[in-house]
Amino acid sequence: MDLTTTTTTNQITNCASCFNQINQDDAFCTSCGYPLKGSEEEQKNFIMEKNTKEIYLEEENRQIKKSGYALYYIAAATFLSGLILYGTSKNPEIKSTLLLVNTVLAVIYAALGFWSKWKPLAAIISGSALYALVFILNAVTSPLTIFSGIILKIFIVVNFVRGIQSAIRADKLRKDLNIG
Ligand SMILES: [Zn+2]
Repeated sequence: MDLTTTTTTNQITNCASCFNQINQDDAFCTSCGYPLKGSEEEQKNFIMEKNTKEIYLEEENRQIKKSGYALYYIAAATFLSGLILYGTSKNPEIKSTLLLVNTVLAVIYAALGFWSKWKPLAAIISGSALYALVFILNAVTSPLTIFSGIILKIFIVVNFVRGIQSAIRADKLRKDLNIG
């Protein structure tokens, strides 16, 4: 009787797609889902799909960046209008308050713009909420402000909506691509 001893070794090697360590017994990479035991075509399709997702992710990140710039822009505009109000207001008691409020708002907008690099969804939502709140408060105290710079305001709102959508899609793509 022929006695052959087979040694089953869990040989460790790396995934062709994500380069993480894999167990050769697995049919799919546990990190990215690459079909380790799939046909050549399945493997090629997987890589192609991954490349497409990476391109989409780049596009989403570009839109997220635009929303970050919008937050910085609003910060600068808010501070500037604080200075203008301070310079033109005839009431000495409220002019300091207006400058202070606008400066605080500007700092918050700038901080949200900075934060949007790491937590875009939370930062853009917070920025939009603050922007809406300021808009409502202005509208209540002086209704004429509703229409001042209305086109620009619409642009900003559209930018924020797109930024939020992109941040959601980017989160999903990153999850699919298994990147933090
Ligand atoms: Zn993998």
